[in-house]
Amino acid sequence: MNQEHKGFIPLSITEFNTLTQLLSKLLSTQHPPLIIPGEAILGIEAVAAGIAAPGRTILNVVTGPYGSLFGEWLKRGGATVVEVKVSFDEVVTAEKVASAIEQFKPCAISFVQAEVVTGGSNPAQAIFKLAQDNNLITVTDSVSAVGGETLLVDEWEVDFAVMGAQKALSGPNGVSAVSISPRGWDFLASNPEAPRNSILSLLDLRPSSGGAAPLRVPPNIPTLEARALISALTQIEEEGLEQVIKRHERTAASAIAGIQALGLTPWQKDSSHYSTLTTTVRIAGEQKLLIDQPIGIVAPGDGELFGQLLRINHFGAKASRQSVEEAVTTLAQLLHQEPDHAITAVRLAWGE
Ligand SMILES: *Cc1c(COP(=O)(O)O)cnc(C)c1O
Repeated sequence: MNQEHKGFIPLSITEFNTLTQLLSKLLSTQHPPLIIPGEAILGIEAVAAGIAAPGRTILNVVTGPYGSLFGEWLKRGGATVVEVKVSFDEVVTAEKVASAIEQFKPCAISFVQAEVVTGGSNPAQAIFKLAQDNNLITVTDSVSAVGGETLLVDEWEVDFAVMGAQKALSGPNGVSAVSISPRGWDFLASNPEAPRNSILSLLDLRPSSGGAAPLRVPPNIPTLEARALISALTQIEEEGLEQVIKRHERTAASAIAGIQALGLTPWQKDSSHYSTLTTTVRIAGEQKLLIDQPIGIVAPGDGELFGQLLRINHFGAKASRQSVEEAVTTLAQLLHQEPDHAITAVRLAWGE
């Protein structure tokens, strides 16, 4: 047979169902997550477009650049956007969210669960509790949280949770997912402004209602990316999601110990709210730390944070002791210091 004419095999319904089940398990939801045929940012923009409408007041929490962008998309859709915005070296507090809910009486709340750009992690569970008490639709960008911290979609009553695999899960960036609760679907369907016949339309992607398993694979699912995601999520299952989260926690704790041993300060002010995917280092005028290109997993700050912080990107396959040691050695070299005592601190925090 002529190899050149074989083509590749389309995604089977079995593979599609496997992927859906892996995503359900990952997000702790019994409602099959919607597979998004693109990078996670597509799912995030599609949620904003789907829920925004004139007459809807939405509380958008801004703790980093992705939150700002989400607010812009909500405004574009005609929603009244009210914001709780904090300085990007802080995370939001439940108290601030509570008083904004009381003041603005929104119908929905959106926030980024964990921020890789700023290195902060918001108090997600407390925010969901407040939302529940006030009967708000909840939206979370959990792209940088899934695999690095807990997210229990059904138990916490999350209506829209966007995930991507390219961060903690070491997966592909070309396919992602949005978990949508039955209430979330109603919120979309009751919005006359929700896109239809559009790449931004979640309603167009909605599986037949009634919860019956689909008979065929939606034609827009990217085959190779879907297979890569199955493979990544299968590896996560093998390691165990809890173990993956612990590995990220341990990595972050080691990175913090390492930078502190070098006399550096974390960019984030509250030590109980560090992201487990990145450690951000305050530059504070230290000229030696002003790099403009990544060195291994040590990267300059993005956008407005350039020159203010350095990021150590210790997620996915880089959530390891060795990666942290390399990053800390890089920082020591930039500072013209011997790395040995910082490496010792890393190992001590790692716990071996
Ligand atoms: C990485 C990330 C995204 C997705 O951005 P991509 O451009 O798809 O990589 C969205 N939100 C947050 C908080 C992220 O960290």
